[in-house]
Amino acid sequence: MRYISTRGAAPARDFDGVLLAGLAEDGGLFVPEAWPVFSPAELRAMRGLPYAELAARVMAPFVCGGAVTMPDLQDMCRAAYRGFDRAAVVPLVQLEPGLFALELFHGPTLAFKDLALQVAGRLFDHVLEARDQRVTIVGATSGDTGSAAIEACRDRARVDIAILHPEGRTSEVQRRQMTTVRAPNVLNIAVHGNFDDCQDLVKAMFADAPFREDLRLSAVNSINWARIAGQIPYFVAAALALGAPDREVAVSVPTGNFGNVLAAWAAKKMGVPIARFIVGSNANDILARFLASNDMSAAGVVETVSPSMDIQVSSNFERLLFEFQHRDAVVTARTMADFRASGRMAVDEPVWRAVRREFTGFTLGDEATLAEIGRIERDYGYIADPHSAIGIAAARACSPIGIPVIAAATAHPAKFPDAMERAIGVRPTLPERLKDLYHRPEVFQRSSNRLAEVQALVRNFAHRNNA
Ligand SMILES: *Cc1c(COP(=O)(O)O)cnc(C)c1O
Repeated sequence: MRYISTRGAAPARDFDGVLLAGLAEDGGLFVPEAWPVFSPAELRAMRGLPYAELAARVMAPFVCGGAVTMPDLQDMCRAAYRGFDRAAVVPLVQLEPGLFALELFHGPTLAFKDLALQVAGRLFDHVLEARDQRVTIVGATSGDTGSAAIEACRDRARVDIAILHPEGRTSEVQRRQMTTVRAPNVLNIAVHGNFDDCQDLVKAMFADAPFREDLRLSAVNSINWARIAGQIPYFVAAALALGAPDREVAVSVPTGNFGNVLAAWAAKKMGVPIARFIVGSNANDILARFLASNDMSAAGVVETVSPSMDIQVSSNFERLLFEFQHRDAVVTARTMADFRASGRMAVDEPVWRAVRREFTGFTLGDEATLAEIGRIERDYGYIADPHSAIGIAAARACSPIGIPVIAAATAHPAKFPDAMERAIGVRPTLPERLKDLYHRPEVFQRSSNRLAEVQALVRNFAHRNNA
């Protein structure tokens, strides 16, 4: 499989190149040159497979062909999902007739990002081994991504990982999931500043060419195609369980960077009949405004009880835009440049109408989200975290009649104990393997938000590991 950039000015690459590069050189995102399609017979043959096997089959057209063979990929998927708390890996729980929660939070860090990152970490090691290279992954996190990336890289031979978080501004569970990992190739930096400072520092490290090349910087943020590829299989698995390809389903996803819902849309491109995509937002509702009235204008980020969705500009949306603009990279590049310059994205009316035929937006504020958590508990006997509750509410409000809806449950409720206590009066307990999380020693470095200070920490760490 070859990949092209949504902005058309970067060379096409194979999967191995896309994995290591992350972003294309022209600032665009990589997308497959052509979508692989499964026939109905091929899809039916996947029904009931163990999840790791299904995941390997769905990911193979994207991943195999370079350094990674199908047996390699099967081994990686088995190893990645062996550590999950459920044999089903991604259990589908019926809440009421026609409404199902797809539980994506049974991995090591209790959020859906483990599904893709546990495989992506292994893919990095494998491709780097074949090339006899190492990389230093750097990233900034406000919550779930950092811990999932650290867990994915901690046992990898050819990867060092440095994650910046804003000191005192992540939840205690989220911070401890990062800082209690004791591995020589993991560096946590608590930055005196906010999340934007952390992100700016990471961008500045990538922009510093000598530093970038010396440390062979790489990233595993949600624009890396390997992340999307690793999220397609669970939508395929859930749809098959509900009767696809012989019956249509709908999907509802609580959305931040648009990665998870894009993966669901990719499943449709690959042959799974998904009638509708419901995009749930919190007060950061730019996508809902776009879908309601073609108003894609950035506002300031608002803090909510669903922090992993506190994002204004959803980077993965560019991939959808490219597809709906008939894969015209010139138009996509222009749209993105105008958006950056003006803060408002002008999308042609016919393109917007075409998106609306498949996507519906839905917004839920904090008070309504907490009330929905209470209602879900009362009506279904089910405990949903604030993100999952938005997806479930969106599914109920927007589902097409007569079509079962898969609502992505993206995080374990114990990750957000304060919000849960406000909603239902109890703090959910952590799974057994994390019971002592609050008592484990934390290891991290502190830094000001000066670039030179952060770079010195990362350089010393990487050089020590590469010595
Ligand atoms: C990351 C995250 C989201 C948002 O997912 P995107 O792919 O960025 O849209 C939603 N819920 C939880 C719990 C998350 O960690």
